[in-house]
Amino acid sequence: MNLIPLPAFQDNYLWLLHDGQRALVVDPGDAGPAQSYLEANGLRLEAILVTHHHADHTGGVDALREATGARVWGPARESIPGPFTRLAEGDRIEALGLSFEVLDVPGHTAGHIAYYCADWQGAPLLFCGDTLFSGGCGRLFEGTAAQMFDSLRKLADLPGAARVCCTHEYTLSNLKFATAVEPGNSQLIHYRQQCEQKRSHGEPTLPSSIALERQVNPFLRTRIPAVAQAAHRHAGADEADAVAVFAALRQWKNEFR
Ligand SMILES: [Zn+2]
Repeated sequence: MNLIPLPAFQDNYLWLLHDGQRALVVDPGDAGPAQSYLEANGLRLEAILVTHHHADHTGGVDALREATGARVWGPARESIPGPFTRLAEGDRIEALGLSFEVLDVPGHTAGHIAYYCADWQGAPLLFCGDTLFSGGCGRLFEGTAAQMFDSLRKLADLPGAARVCCTHEYTLSNLKFATAVEPGNSQLIHYRQQCEQKRSHGEPTLPSSIALERQVNPFLRTRIPAVAQAAHRHAGADEADAVAVFAALRQWKNEFR
C-alpha cells in the first residue's frame, strides 16, 4: 500500500492511497493530478473522502466520480458535490480494506471532519484536512477559538506514531511563526532545518506525526509556559487560560509576516 501526496494548485496536497490496483483520494480540489496519477499507474479509484466544503478540497469530486464511479464520503453538516454519504463523529467507513473512524473537528469550518485509520502498515494514519498543519492550524473561518482548541486537542491525543496528512504545504511559514513564539525550542529549530532542506529539494515536508507536532506546533502547546508567556507578552492573554492563549496565537499568526 502506498501513500502519495499529489501537489495541486499553489500549495495543496491531494492524498492518494493505493494498493497497486485500487485507490482512494482525499480532498480532490482538482481532478487533474489525481486522474493523471491513476492513469499512469493503472489504478481504479474506489473512494473519495472529503473533510470539508471548501472548493480547493471539493472542486474535482464530480469529475472524478463521473470518470471512475468512485463512492464519495463527506461531512454530514456541510454541503459538498453530491450524491455523497454523510459522516459524523463515531461513524466508521471501510475503503481499500481499511477501516477509518470519523472525528468531528469543527473550527476551520463548522462541520469539518477528519478520517483516522488506527492501523496502516504498523502506524495510524490521519487525514485532517485544514484543521492541523505541520507547525500550525487552519484559520477560523466558521468556528470559534474554543471549538478549534477542542478539535486540535482531540487530534493531539491520538497516538504519537499517527502520521498526519495535512492538505497544505504551509510548514515553512508555520515554523517561522512557531520560532517567533518559542525561540528556545531546540526540537523546533532542528525540525525547521530539516524542512528547509526538504523544500530546497522540492520534497514535501509531510506527512508529519502527532508526536512531532506535540513538540513543535505552538497551537498544541498552549499549556507550555514559554508559549503561554509569549501569547501574554504579545496580546495580554491570560497565561492560565489555554483557550485564550490559543486565540491570541491564532490572531497573532493571522498578522504575522
Ligand atoms: Zn479549507
